[in-house]
Amino acid sequence: MRPPSPEGTPAPRGPPLRRLLLVLLLPRLVSDAHTTPGTSSSATRPATPSSPSLRERARALMRDFPLVDGHNDMPLVLRQFYRQGLHDVNLRNFSRGQTSLDRLRDGFVGAQFWSAYVPCQTQERDALRLTLEQIDLIRRMCASYSELELVTSVKALNNTRKLACLIGVEGGHSLDSSLSILRTFYVLGARYLTLTHTCNTPWAESSAKGIHPFYNNVSGLTSFGEKKNGGIVMVSLSSGVLQCNLLANVSTVADHFDYIRAVIGSKFIGIGGDYDGARRFPQGLEDVSTYPVLIEELLRRGWSGEELQGVLRGNLLRVFGQVEQVREASKGQRPLEDEFPDEQLSSSCRSVLSRLHQTQYPSPYQKLTEISPEWSPKQSLSKSLPIMAPGLIVIAACSVLILWFW
Ligand SMILES: [Zn+2]
Repeated sequence: MRPPSPEGTPAPRGPPLRRLLLVLLLPRLVSDAHTTPGTSSSATRPATPSSPSLRERARALMRDFPLVDGHNDMPLVLRQFYRQGLHDVNLRNFSRGQTSLDRLRDGFVGAQFWSAYVPCQTQERDALRLTLEQIDLIRRMCASYSELELVTSVKALNNTRKLACLIGVEGGHSLDSSLSILRTFYVLGARYLTLTHTCNTPWAESSAKGIHPFYNNVSGLTSFGEKKNGGIVMVSLSSGVLQCNLLANVSTVADHFDYIRAVIGSKFIGIGGDYDGARRFPQGLEDVSTYPVLIEELLRRGWSGEELQGVLRGNLLRVFGQVEQVREASKGQRPLEDEFPDEQLSSSCRSVLSRLHQTQYPSPYQKLTEISPEWSPKQSLSKSLPIMAPGLIVIAACSVLILWFW
């Protein structure tokens, strides 16, 4: 996640992509849940001093069950500072941001979803190209270091002895409203897509509270975030989504975990740190090497080893595996060919291809990029309701969803 975009054109109610399976979600909403009026906060409570026995217990647990972290934005740092170049960078002792390979090892991170994130301002401009470049960067990075291995399945993740690299696309704006692009991202190795970042897309609304006037009446999880959907809440550690964020420490973060457990149960919680996606992190949790500090605090609060195994990796792998099962069960189905109507996309930069009836033949002089006569380039989004397919109206900032299609 990065700071909110100043953009965010309100979009009409989104047409759901019926065959997109989504699993889950919403650190932002969970943060909102925590700040529900009337709930208590211990955000300014001093962090409890570390206890040697608990510290060793946390580290032993993480040695046996290395973290599968759902969200890291180091690829964006590489774009910003090195123009996506890897030749002049040593990621082992990389100190530009909050992540390095050495620090991931110290933090007992066994698998990392790297975010292919590009800012919302790129929507309807060059978001797709930039996202493809980020995916290329992640793939090159994972091929360049002997301690990394790109994986795209639960089996490969469990079998590798290296730090598993996975790819997540952060923000539905990267799709450019195209299911073809969604399928292509999958082929390239992406295994989740967040529906939105901090901007709406023509088919989904951002839940960024205070930024867009949606869901002002919602406190806590919407029905999408309830555990009955079988998903998992990937908790972000970014101070920006924590209560009393300037004073946040490990105790503040643990409060969020306690609260989420009380709402939906520990089996539906994972960790998506968001390191390198935000400037500020809680005291004591400043970089990816500090995950054991959080696990130690949760042990101190009475979380069982079994619960923490789930939080560290088991819960995410369960969801990931369920997604794979549905994919396998759906293999006989044909890919969805619905298109988002060009008329409902606002960008004046899009090429609108001529559409011919099957009984027509293109004249040799007819160019494919001719503008359709019925096309009105400045048609307002707000006046055109999308009608692509039933089903998906979702709202998630910085959310995680695992998807497949058939
Ligand atoms: Zn991010």
